[in-house]
Amino acid sequence: MSKRDFYEILGVGKEASADEIKKAYRQLARKLHPDVNKDDPNAEEKFKETKEAYDVLSNPDKRAQYDRFGHAGAQGQGFGGFGGFDEGDFSGGFSDIFDMFFGGGGGGGQRASNRPRRGSDLRYDLSITFKEAMSGKEVELKLPKQENCTACDGTGAASKDDIETCNVCKGTGQEETMQNTPFGRIVNRRVCSACQGQGKRIKKVCPECKGQGKIRKTKTIKINIPAGVDTGAKIRVAGEGEPGDNGGPQGDLFIFITVKPHEFFERNGDDIYCEVPITFAQATLGDEIEVPTIEGKVRLKIPEGTQTGKMFRIKGKGAPRLRGYGNGDQFVKAVVVTPTNLTQKQKDLLKEFADIGGDDTYSQSKSFFQRVKDAFK
Ligand SMILES: [Zn+2]
Ligand SMILES: [Zn+2]
Repeated sequence: MSKRDFYEILGVGKEASADEIKKAYRQLARKLHPDVNKDDPNAEEKFKETKEAYDVLSNPDKRAQYDRFGHAGAQGQGFGGFGGFDEGDFSGGFSDIFDMFFGGGGGGGQRASNRPRRGSDLRYDLSITFKEAMSGKEVELKLPKQENCTACDGTGAASKDDIETCNVCKGTGQEETMQNTPFGRIVNRRVCSACQGQGKRIKKVCPECKGQGKIRKTKTIKINIPAGVDTGAKIRVAGEGEPGDNGGPQGDLFIFITVKPHEFFERNGDDIYCEVPITFAQATLGDEIEVPTIEGKVRLKIPEGTQTGKMFRIKGKGAPRLRGYGNGDQFVKAVVVTPTNLTQKQKDLLKEFADIGGDDTYSQSKSFFQRVKDAFK
C-alpha cells in the first residue's frame, strides 16, 4: 500500500554517489526487465518501481526534494481547473514542478497541508478569428474560479474563536514515525490524520463556504490579445489562477489560443499566403490587379507571360510580428483560369490564334513527349 523507499528499492544507502546509484539501477534493470522475467507477473511492476526510483535519485534536484519531503516531494502534480496539461509546456525545471505540487489539486503524495501553498494554475481555451489574430483584440473572459470566502477571510471557520490548534500534531500538520531499515533509521513523516494536515481544527464552520474557505464564482476579466498571435500561443495572466492555501500566492491563468482558419488567407509564421485567379489574357499580356491584404488591398503588377503557380511577394503585408517590429510578407500565388463558355467569336479568334502559330503548345508537347521517351531509354 504505502510506497517503498527509493533508496531501499535500489538497494543503496542514503549517501550513495551518483555513480553507485547508476550502477545499482543498471544491474537491477537488467535483472528485472520484463522481457527476461516473462514468468513473473509482477516483473513489470517491479521494473517500473525501479525506474521511478532511479528517475528521482539520479536527478540531483529531485533527489534533494525527496530527501527533504519523501515521496510527496518527488511528485509533481496538481493542475486543477479546466483540465490539466503537461508541466513540460512551461519553463520547466524542478522548481516549477515543486510549485505545482504545492499548488495543490493533485492527489498522490503526502504533504503537510498547513504550509502556504500556491493556488492551482488555470487553463482557458480561447478561439478567435483570423482577423482578430491579425489586429489584436480585447476580450472579456468569464472564468468559473474559486475565490477566497470573504465571510471568513478564507479560514473556513464561523469566527476566529472557532479555530483551535490540533492537539494530535500540535499544529505541525505532520505525524512522525520511525522505521528501521538496513541503512539505518528513517523518519517517516505523514499527514496528520486527525486534522488532515491542517494543523488546526474548526469547531464551527463558516456558513457561507461550508468550511471550504473558498467559494466558486464567475469572474470576468479583460485580456488584451496581442496582434499577431497564432494557434498554439499561450498567454499567461499572473495571479488569475486559483487562490493559494494558508496565505500562499494565487496561481496563474494560461490562455491557450486557437485561430480559426480563414477562407482566403493562410498563415505560415509571420507570412500570409493566398491565391488569386487571373485570366488567360492577363497572364499572357500582363496586367495590374488588386490583391486583398489583411488590412485592405494593394495593386500587384502581373508581368507578361505569367505561368500559373507563379508566386509574388508583397513585402510587409503579412502578419504582425509578435516578437519584434513590423509585419511578415504576403505571398500571392497566381492561378490562371482556363476560359470556359466562350462565344463563337471568341472560339474563332482563339482558333485563328492557334493557327497562325501564336500558340506553340504543339511544338512544346512534341518536345515534352520526346523528353519522356528519352527518359525511358
Ligand atoms: Zn467562509
Ligand atoms: Zn493534526
